[in-house]
Amino acid sequence: MNLEKIMNDLEKKHPGENEYLQAVREVLESIEEVYNENPHFESANIIDRLVEPDRILTFKVCWVDDSGKVQVNLGYRVQFNNAIGPYKGGLRFHPSVNLSILKFLGFEQIFKNSLTTLPMGGAKGGSDFDPKGKSNAEIMRFCQSFMLELWKLIGPETDVPAGDIGVGGREIGFLYGMYRKLARENTGVLTGKGLNWGGSLIRPEATGFGAVYFAKEMLATKGETFKGKTVAISGFGNVAWGATIKATELGARVVTISGPDGYIYDPDGISGEKIDYLLELRASNQDIVKPYSYEFPNAQFHQGKRPWEVKCDIALPCATQNELGKEDALNLIKNGVICVAEGANMPSTPEAIEQFLEHKILFAPGKAVNAGGVATSGLEMAQNAMKLSWPIKEVDERLHEIMCSIHSACVKYGKDKEGYVNYVKGANVAGFLKVANAMLDQGVI
Ligand code: NDP
Repeated sequence: MNLEKIMNDLEKKHPGENEYLQAVREVLESIEEVYNENPHFESANIIDRLVEPDRILTFKVCWVDDSGKVQVNLGYRVQFNNAIGPYKGGLRFHPSVNLSILKFLGFEQIFKNSLTTLPMGGAKGGSDFDPKGKSNAEIMRFCQSFMLELWKLIGPETDVPAGDIGVGGREIGFLYGMYRKLARENTGVLTGKGLNWGGSLIRPEATGFGAVYFAKEMLATKGETFKGKTVAISGFGNVAWGATIKATELGARVVTISGPDGYIYDPDGISGEKIDYLLELRASNQDIVKPYSYEFPNAQFHQGKRPWEVKCDIALPCATQNELGKEDALNLIKNGVICVAEGANMPSTPEAIEQFLEHKILFAPGKAVNAGGVATSGLEMAQNAMKLSWPIKEVDERLHEIMCSIHSACVKYGKDKEGYVNYVKGANVAGFLKVANAMLDQGVI
């Protein structure tokens, strides 16, 4: 593999798509060795076929706000690769959404979904619509207009979207309602659905729970557990709250959460009624981080800062991409962090990852750590296909099993001669091999 040539060609074709190029480079660097050892990949030109999405749908979304003004947003669906199953990946509603971000997320999704052991291809979609500060009625009108375009491209055996940043249970409800009306069918075309209309138990907390199950396996390789550990978490969305609950349940003390404007440090730990309070604030579409420090006076709000300056044993970045840079990594290492597990997608910059690997910290990438979300979506699809609903225990056990199996795959392909596990390499190689072999089996299409 001529990595630099591939990257140069890609940069020329897609100038300025920095997040996408960053994600492709990270994967290619990891798989270079195994790729070169298997010349049949090169003869089938697997890399060129893998790094470009199968197709991208771009559309405009017109909707009317509460004051009667017509608003226009952009909508996208990037269908990246369906060699091992229907396209599957979340929808993100956030003003920062652009094609580069969705291509990076869709590309990552291919390998993540492959790691889950379930038959799901990779996709991603979303819009630059900002749900923050919008009324329920505005969010409903936007979601309905968005689905008016998207429904033509998706289906239970074709492409099954889910939530992501800015898309939770409420948005999935509005999207599903419109899909059901247009397609005239009640099928599992979206995951993250409400429990009364085809959703799975545990799905809302699955990504955070799965992240902690994965980190638990990482810690076990060093004879460590969550018990008595201090945990720093960023964000406080779908992923962060599940991780906060599970880490606390396992005996850890979660001392931070964050938002775009800063972070909260609560030395007493964020658990119980504090989590309920945060969830109430979230449901009201308000900023949550600052009000928390008024409600619980022992907590401090650090304006414009990130939680990585706090002393902790375990760090779980659960907010957004590139939210943990080199300086943050060095801070964490200096303060004695032993494990960094990415709940978000690509939260650490390449320079930060380099530091973690160099210092032999337990470090694992989002595509392995947060795969519990899409895995439980896969379990939701299975329940929908069978027209059944599994009890909590069964879903949770399957999730736990899947996270352990992803961990084993990372160890299998990532362990070096000294016994250090490079989870980045392990996850990328394991995810790649399954998809690449499926592509080889199915010919050039
Ligand atoms: P949410 O929208 O529910 O939460 C995101 C959280 O991060 C919010 O608390 C938000 O604060 C905060 N945030 C946003 N931008 C920043 C920033 N620049 N600095 C600090 N905090 C910030 O999203 P999810 O929890 O669903 O997703 C979080 C990450 O996890 C994303 O990378 C997503 O792709 C990934 N992921 C999510 C899965 C899922 O099942 N939901 C599955 C797999 C991965 P505020 O609300 O105040 O803006």
